[in-house]
Amino acid sequence: MSHTWLQEFWYFTGLIAGMFLVGWWMGQTTVFLFLALWLYLSWHLYNLYRLERWFRLRKKKVNLPDTLGIWGEVFYHFYRLQQRNRKHKRKISAILKRFQSSTAAMPDAAVVLGKHYEIEWLNKSAQKLLGLQSPQDRGKPITNFIRSPVFVQYLNNSHEKNTVTIASPTNHNLLLKIHVVPYASNQHLLLAHDTTQLHRLEQIRRDFIANVSHELRTPLTVLAGFIETLRDGEDECTQQWERPLLLMAQQSARMRNLIEDLLLLSRLESDTTVGSSVPVRVAEMLHTICEEARILSGEQMHRITLLADETLVLAGRREELRSAFSNLIFNAVRYTPAQGDITVRWYQDDKGLHFEVSDTGEGIAPEHLPRLTERFYRVDVGRSRQQGGTGLGLAIVKHVLLRHQGQLHIDSTLGHGSTFCCDFPAPSDNETDDLNTK
Ligand code: ADP
Repeated sequence: MSHTWLQEFWYFTGLIAGMFLVGWWMGQTTVFLFLALWLYLSWHLYNLYRLERWFRLRKKKVNLPDTLGIWGEVFYHFYRLQQRNRKHKRKISAILKRFQSSTAAMPDAAVVLGKHYEIEWLNKSAQKLLGLQSPQDRGKPITNFIRSPVFVQYLNNSHEKNTVTIASPTNHNLLLKIHVVPYASNQHLLLAHDTTQLHRLEQIRRDFIANVSHELRTPLTVLAGFIETLRDGEDECTQQWERPLLLMAQQSARMRNLIEDLLLLSRLESDTTVGSSVPVRVAEMLHTICEEARILSGEQMHRITLLADETLVLAGRREELRSAFSNLIFNAVRYTPAQGDITVRWYQDDKGLHFEVSDTGEGIAPEHLPRLTERFYRVDVGRSRQQGGTGLGLAIVKHVLLRHQGQLHIDSTLGHGSTFCCDFPAPSDNETDDLNTK
């Protein structure tokens, strides 16, 4: 028992004993005992009242009462608790203020979303970039303000890793890259970054490449035409210049291929329209490409086998798909030694539709695989040039697949061969009906 409780016990005992003695002396023991109890109880009730009043008025900063005995101790504990809480509160508000001022200074928009994507908190940039108002818009779903179908679809699908780029709801000239990250149990943090400048630079780069390629096309066609005419001549001068003219013809053909690939790439990058998709009978297309591959193989006599499901149809852009598939098949011919095996497959399984090219060629070391689809990335530049490669083939494949919701998987073992696989999502039942009726 603590010292204060002992003291309280003695106070109580002293009061009862004192009153008992006075009552005994005056011949009114019961009355005085009752009076003693009444006094003691009143004292506790009074202090209870003081405590309740302090609770009631504590927001108005009313001081805690001071008194003796057990109530003094109780008040003292409450006082300590109050001090501690105030200290915590001050600390938390300082942290909150620091957080708010740092997020306010952030150029990116940050919005805290609840379980159903309702707005819980936002920073200043969110007001500017997304047109949200605080506190008016709190509790309202974010899709009331960002109505872009691309964003709504992104929000409904898994968005943990990816980002989506949309025009700002407040200014259509601004492009925002949006990332929604889940945190805690049911909350989401939406971050929006202004990428307008980056897109503008990208556009300038694309336009520049497209314009340069376009401008080079005509003079090169004229030069190639004259070289061919000169080669066709049969006079003495032509015979003397035969080899230089052959080299000139080869190099101009290489440049033409390069320009055509650059133009195709910039078309793939800049044309963002989703429509104009037609049902493509892939097996039919592959028969033609394999015939062309046999011509390319020529005396090397590669064994080219085609295993294609004739019934499978893919919704897409015919020319783009032809370009991607032929790039992969022609690469297999180029990078497989004479008489090697090349197998082309077109099939469906429970994961979707697949186009696959396997070869028994030289293979690719694992360190090159992640960078293979970059423009002008080649494992062996000399070898690629000798084969008439432009270094753009796989970049074209990647872009074509991106536009068809496909993915490229490369599996290769150095010295044993490679497999390039394009995976496409399986068509939904409705799509299949549509494709079959077309
Ligand atoms: P290139 O015009 O040089 O073939 P690509 O973009 O088509 O350009 O291919 C990039 C590089 O990938 C090639 O230079 C080559 O080194 C490698 N590569 C592509 N396909 C194959 C393959 N089937 N076997 C081995 N290496 C390949």
